[in-house]
Amino acid sequence: SKRNPNEPEFLQAVHEVAETVIPFIENNPRYQNKMLLERMAEPERVIMFRVNWLDDNGEVQVNRGYRIQMNSAIGPYKGGLRFHPSVNLSILKFLAFEQTFKNSLTTLAMGGGKGGADFDPKGKSDNEIMKFCQSFMTELSKHIGANTDVPAGDIGVGGREIGFMYGQYKRLRNEFTGVLTGKGMSYGGSLIRPEATGYGCVYFAQSMLSTKDTSFKGKTVVISGSGNVAQYATEKVIQLGGKVVTLSDSSGYIYDEAGIDADKLAYVMEIKNERRGRIKEYLDKYPDAKYVDGGQPWEVKCDVALPCATQNEINGDEAKMLINNGCMAVAEGANMPCTPEAVTAFHNAKLLFAPGKASNAGGVATSGLEMSQNSLRLNWTREEVDGKLKEIMNDIHEACIKHGKEADGHIDYVKGANIAGFVKVAEAMLAQGVV
Ligand code: NDP
Repeated sequence: SKRNPNEPEFLQAVHEVAETVIPFIENNPRYQNKMLLERMAEPERVIMFRVNWLDDNGEVQVNRGYRIQMNSAIGPYKGGLRFHPSVNLSILKFLAFEQTFKNSLTTLAMGGGKGGADFDPKGKSDNEIMKFCQSFMTELSKHIGANTDVPAGDIGVGGREIGFMYGQYKRLRNEFTGVLTGKGMSYGGSLIRPEATGYGCVYFAQSMLSTKDTSFKGKTVVISGSGNVAQYATEKVIQLGGKVVTLSDSSGYIYDEAGIDADKLAYVMEIKNERRGRIKEYLDKYPDAKYVDGGQPWEVKCDVALPCATQNEINGDEAKMLINNGCMAVAEGANMPCTPEAVTAFHNAKLLFAPGKASNAGGVATSGLEMSQNSLRLNWTREEVDGKLKEIMNDIHEACIKHGKEADGHIDYVKGANIAGFVKVAEAMLAQGVV
């Protein structure tokens, strides 16, 4: 921590991995004495830059842009870009560190990276978003490339932002190449990429439930967030016969006892994606639902919880509330939404608990499939991509069992994911020497 002052999220992520990986290293001489974990916790490169842009009033605005190139042992750096006022070095380093393990788990050839800016897209016009994206990419373009570093979306960066950044990259470099993923279908995107993180999270949760001989059918499901991941997690739960009763944003949550069905979800998508409005507007059309201002949905009784908004959104007390209400499974759609206290509580209660690096890996996995399609200059069908996504999520689940199954049969998915992710990166680093 002396080396990384004022980086609590980064230390939290490294600590969580170290806790499970260090005992493994101690029992496996092959991984000793090479400072492997220490090297993994040091980014290969950190780029920080000024982003100037002109707002609609002609005023100059200044933001800070970042790209963390964490680890390229198994493939080009890969990971999303986040635009949110809370973005700082600690948050991006935590995300880039997690990303390295996650990408390793997907079995595809992708190293770890993450980036973004402390830019707040809320309330900005389309023109301002475009100006910002163009300015951001003008600098970022010097550091990325289809074989070097391939960014994607994350909080605050969706199809619109990827389009603006792609256009600027192409203009600067005069090449049409798969330098970003999450692209639109008309210029190299992949079917199922928008759905992939949410769908993948639900596929993973379904595999966890099947270890207890049960499924989503008839289960009550609590979901937080109402962005990309939350929307498609909701869609998949509905398809599998579960009942989603909550969604949220940073202002509060809605509780719909009757369940959010496909029509209601379409309305949520209209509010969030087209109007860029607030989740409380759900009540304008469905007044029987409740809106809890400033609240989070963890107090609602459920069988399964899928936190899909942001980091540290379930603390120890909230975890206990879920456990006491009979929740049997938690799968992280977001990155590190559960605090260490919450993870410990789930562990002690022997809940089925999936860490994000396993359960939300479907997004980056499908980004990897987008890269493959770009290289081949081919487009796979929905069924093909969805089939590969299912297979990858299933393989990740198997890898977690392999490294995380305990003597009493309980599966420690945290341990399983950390060790499985570590081994591949460690092997590649060992083979490549001290570089
Ligand atoms: P979006 O921007 O589409 O949606 C984010 C949602 O979370 C919004 O509902 C937002 O509410 C809410 N939110 C964001 N920040 C906060 C906060 N500080 N407090 C409370 N609520 C907040 O992002 P995504 O759905 O893409 O990402 C959600 C999570 O999933 C993130 O942790 C991301 O890293 C992770 N993830 C995303 C992947 C992807 O493919 N998109 C892949 C893997 C992980 P509001 O509108 O009020 O800001």
